[in-house]
Amino acid sequence: MSEHTKLEHFIGGERVAPKSGEYFASTNPATGETLYEAARGNTADIETAMQAARATFDDPRWRDLTQTRRGHLLRKLGDLIGENAEELARSESRDNGKLLREMRGQLANLPEYYYYYAGLADKIHGDVVPTSDRAVINYTAREPLGVVGAITPWNSPLTLTTSKLAPALCVGNTVVVKPSEYTSATVLRLAELAVEAGFPPGAVNVVTGFGAEAGQALVDHPGLAKISFTGSTATGSRIAAATASRFIGSTLELGGKSPNIVFDDANVANAAMGVVAGIFAAAGQTCIAGSRVFAQRAVYDELLERVTERARSIRIGDPLDDATELGPLAFEAQRDKVASYVDIGRDEGARVLTGGNSSDGGLGGYFYEPTVLVDVDNDMRVVREEIFGPVAAIMPFDSEDEVLRLANDTDYGLAAGVWTSNLSRAHRMASRLEAGTVWVNTYRAMSPMSPRQGFKTSGVGIEHGTETIKEYTRLKSVWINTSEDAVADPFVLRS
Ligand code: NAD
Repeated sequence: MSEHTKLEHFIGGERVAPKSGEYFASTNPATGETLYEAARGNTADIETAMQAARATFDDPRWRDLTQTRRGHLLRKLGDLIGENAEELARSESRDNGKLLREMRGQLANLPEYYYYYAGLADKIHGDVVPTSDRAVINYTAREPLGVVGAITPWNSPLTLTTSKLAPALCVGNTVVVKPSEYTSATVLRLAELAVEAGFPPGAVNVVTGFGAEAGQALVDHPGLAKISFTGSTATGSRIAAATASRFIGSTLELGGKSPNIVFDDANVANAAMGVVAGIFAAAGQTCIAGSRVFAQRAVYDELLERVTERARSIRIGDPLDDATELGPLAFEAQRDKVASYVDIGRDEGARVLTGGNSSDGGLGGYFYEPTVLVDVDNDMRVVREEIFGPVAAIMPFDSEDEVLRLANDTDYGLAAGVWTSNLSRAHRMASRLEAGTVWVNTYRAMSPMSPRQGFKTSGVGIEHGTETIKEYTRLKSVWINTSEDAVADPFVLRS
């Protein structure tokens, strides 16, 4: 494997070889071929990165940079991402199998995140708080936390890293990123672009490697001020326990099993496209996948027919080809996991209307056909557990109350879709669905301006918008007594 490119860590503005000297292979899931080898990070590498990040955090050249100047750096980074969009889109598409045309779309939007936080940087301030003592000036300030750890998954590495990086840098933190072991390349490139944009070396550091090694070492590092994590609920739960016992904050964006609900007063053609977008886009590898589809009895057959027909015509193939509609799963074990869930569904009594087979896409890769399951109910594992693949479970319902009960009968609470032309119903559903994001007559919409949060086991903390700033700052309350009067009684509290 020595002929493959070796990707090293990025620490303190430089490429740094792993202390162990070890690398691991990363595969193109469309072909099964090795793409590159990445540094296998361990505790020693995390220590080096944490030191570099801390030194930069304490460096007056970063610490005392004005908020406006920090905004300029974010804006420049957005520009550089735009200039390098095609290279980044191709690189990520090869790494995780996402369609190149979807990646081009993501890259067209990605600079907006940096521009949004660039604009916000010098509009963040505390308040002057009136207290009952007119001689006292009480003000609050929002301070950066220190070194923030960012741990991200493989399904959208650049976008999901950006959701953490842009606000963390906006308020003056420094960051150590541990990307998924399946997708190291683009996050390393992003860190290089940050230095090119003018961020001080050490503001953005990347240690590649496995979760149980580099990831765990980052979570356990005593110098860490906060962890911002996106990934599975199981890993998030372990991270929450580890950080809580040390009183460190964590933002956790976790799994989902989102309902996509079609009422009989909906535009069924659009709803069917929304169902297809919700579960077959990105081969179902999105946290917000609309994997549980509920169709009201009167439109159940029509919706099923439209979705199944479209699923059958989906073009599977090379994600770099513009005609392709469904690429591979991101790695072999993920494809096998999807296949085993469909087998579990069959054993539980589900009927496979279309799909249900693995394929190599004619390229030697890890593909799975778009799959529609019917004769399913809320007790089945395929309806309760996150599959993270192109597998829709479609169920009929009769009334609004019934579908609310079914939709909310889940451990997750990330997102939900509602398709209806009845405005009152849309508002009622939005209010009663237990999900952090509700889309009505659309699905998978996202913006840096719109805050989002997972309910239940889908997460803790807010990403995007102005709300996320609180996740990356701590509040200080300062009291200044301007009175020169003699202190009357030292045993009575001033207020
Ligand atoms: P994962 O939990 O297996 O891994 C995520 C990251 O955590 C990886 O970088 C991994 O190396 C690291 N990790 C694993 N074990 C660790 C440990 N013990 N300590 C520290 N780090 C560790 O998740 P995944 O399979 O990469 O991603 C898919 C999951 O991510 C799905 O559940 C999906 O729903 C979720 N996701 C959520 C969102 C969201 O915004 N809510 C977005 C995308 C993906």
